[in-house]
Amino acid sequence: MAKAIAGPEIERLIQLLARLPGLGPRSARRAALYLIKKREQVMAPLTSALQIALEKIEVCKTCGNIDTQNPCTVCTDPRRDMSVLVVVADVADLWALERAHAINAPYHVLGGTLSPLDGVGPQDLAIDGLISRAHAANVTEVILALNATVDGQTTAHYITDLLHSADVKVTRLAHGVPVGGELDYLDEGTLSAAIRQRTLF
Ligand code: ZN
Repeated sequence: MAKAIAGPEIERLIQLLARLPGLGPRSARRAALYLIKKREQVMAPLTSALQIALEKIEVCKTCGNIDTQNPCTVCTDPRRDMSVLVVVADVADLWALERAHAINAPYHVLGGTLSPLDGVGPQDLAIDGLISRAHAANVTEVILALNATVDGQTTAHYITDLLHSADVKVTRLAHGVPVGGELDYLDEGTLSAAIRQRTLF
């Protein structure tokens, strides 16, 4: 076993930081040392921000987003185009689309994708809520912003079938050349999807 180089409180801090995505043991140690050095400027405000988040964060009962108000900030934003519903697998995807200012519409977070191999079925996802929201009179388009993976596309097909009874246009994200992408580096699947989904110049 590795020799402890600090007291148990600091070792515990490092262990917890090492659980964060993107942080391994080395960077966790570096982050811990940084926090300790910047106790007043960083550690104290971070501690209180974490405490407040712990007390106040809820899952939005409308869309499944995570926020400190319920319904969430996105759902209660009056400037959103309420005729469109953007379906995402995860809150991380919602936040990614928001960061990119990709679309100004409300969302629906499924909480994952269908995955028979991992035992994730329709009952494990927020699909019923989506179908009833898609039936609302004002909704005219449902955008399936799901991963271009087998599970993502299986989920997209499953939802599309269920939405036949709703009076909505069902669309999905384009598959193709990434912005700044070089054709020579793309895999065959992406290249052939890009050719199939070519658009008028
Ligand atoms: Zn919401």
